[in-house]
Amino acid sequence: MESIGRCLTINRLAYYDPLTQLPNRRLMMDRLRQAMAASQRNDSYGALLFIDMDNFKELNETQGHDAGDKLLVNVGNRLMSCVRTGDTVARMGGDEFVVMLANLVDTDVDLVPRAESVAEKVLFMLNQPYLIDGREYLCTASIGITLFHGEQQSTEELLKHTDLALYQAKNSGRATLRFFDASMQQALEARTQLKTDLRCALQEAQFQLYFQPQMDASGRCVGAEVLLRWQHPLRGLIQPNDFIPFAEECGLIALIDYWVLGEACQQLSAWSTQDPFAGVRLAVNISASAFMRASFVEDVLAIIKARGCDPRQIKLELTETSLVHNINEAIGKMNRLKSAGIKFSLDDFGTGYSSLSYLRQLPIQQLKIDRAFVRNVTTESGDAVIVRTMVGMAQNLGLDVIAEGVETEAQLSLLKSYGCPGYQGYLFSKPLNLEGFVCWVNDAQQQH
Ligand code: C2E
Ligand code: CA
Ligand code: CA
Repeated sequence: MESIGRCLTINRLAYYDPLTQLPNRRLMMDRLRQAMAASQRNDSYGALLFIDMDNFKELNETQGHDAGDKLLVNVGNRLMSCVRTGDTVARMGGDEFVVMLANLVDTDVDLVPRAESVAEKVLFMLNQPYLIDGREYLCTASIGITLFHGEQQSTEELLKHTDLALYQAKNSGRATLRFFDASMQQALEARTQLKTDLRCALQEAQFQLYFQPQMDASGRCVGAEVLLRWQHPLRGLIQPNDFIPFAEECGLIALIDYWVLGEACQQLSAWSTQDPFAGVRLAVNISASAFMRASFVEDVLAIIKARGCDPRQIKLELTETSLVHNINEAIGKMNRLKSAGIKFSLDDFGTGYSSLSYLRQLPIQQLKIDRAFVRNVTTESGDAVIVRTMVGMAQNLGLDVIAEGVETEAQLSLLKSYGCPGYQGYLFSKPLNLEGFVCWVNDAQQQH
């Protein structure tokens, strides 16, 4: 008798979570394999729900593990109350639970709504306040769901898909549910592919510089912002918003910025003897990860020196995110570059939290008013006030100012009336490739 008892205990330990008494990951995987085989035999369907508590970590860290444990036990009980006999509730570890619904019959109308209604019930139940040691706590959950039919996919694939759906649920603001679908998978694969392709793009010179004219108050083009495009061998021209975030994620953005700067310097050197391009200034975007490199100043100076252009024709566009981490270090770096003749423009101005005292410290020459404010400057009085204030602020600090995203004559004349002396936007030109930009400048020159 005793040894049977011990066997049972060992069995429980191997297959059940000691805290919640629910099946553990191992038993869950067993049951999943069985359910998939049964669904193959009976032509039935099943659903896998991954459930993750949204703010468990917080509670666990602030209220102690004891409170955390009590919450998890509570969650387990609530989950059990949401399912029928034959369904499985398991604790996979931490604050992750799984519900498997087996033996669903596909009457088409029934399947997805059934899984969804269970998931909604789970969300509802888990969202109710938890009473722990006499205090009430709130903790929401997110759910990812995949349906399965027979053994069309492996258990690993199924888990991966459910995980991806959970990730989507978390990403779309938590406390919600998401079904896995093929487009999710495609999106994931496309991202992975894009990152692989990006690594080649630099080596194989698939990037191209585009130039968007920058105008002064008299309507003359004084320079251009350099904007990157990716000429992908299969996908054609890709816009920066569709690849720069990936380049940031995989740590390539600093190298890309250096490459852009090098090309821009090369262009300035080539233009240095060609009227009307000789005095043109180029503004180059610099990402936070490039700027924060310890060797940034030396790198920039080396790039400029190697191309032999005049540093006074270079303007670096920085965003506040580059500067706020360590303002003193940022100022030091900027001052060293400034003494070599390089200028700085503060990009996307107004979207961060620039304070006046912070602005005064920075050795910048220009504020670049973000296009989000310019867009509504003629229609929203709030935005008009902001733009006017920013122009006034720049003037008081002795800074140049340029408005980006100028699309209409009405916006232009309002900006002029505020005393804004520089503009960039579709009203003058979209970003152009080199050939297009050269033509545009020549045409503009003739009209002037
Ligand atoms: P950004 O620096 O704010 O660049 C301005 C963006 O506004 C450009 O988009 C430009 O095409 C667009 N734009 C210009 N005029 C107008 C207008 O009148 N209306 C509207 N709606 N948009 C206008 P683009 O070229 O797609 O670049 C997007 C962002 O990608 C840039 O925003 C910048 O943050 C980033 N980026 C582009 N090139 C580089 C680069 O070489 N290095 C780094 N680090 N980032 C870059
Ligand atoms: Ca910019
Ligand atoms: Ca901008």
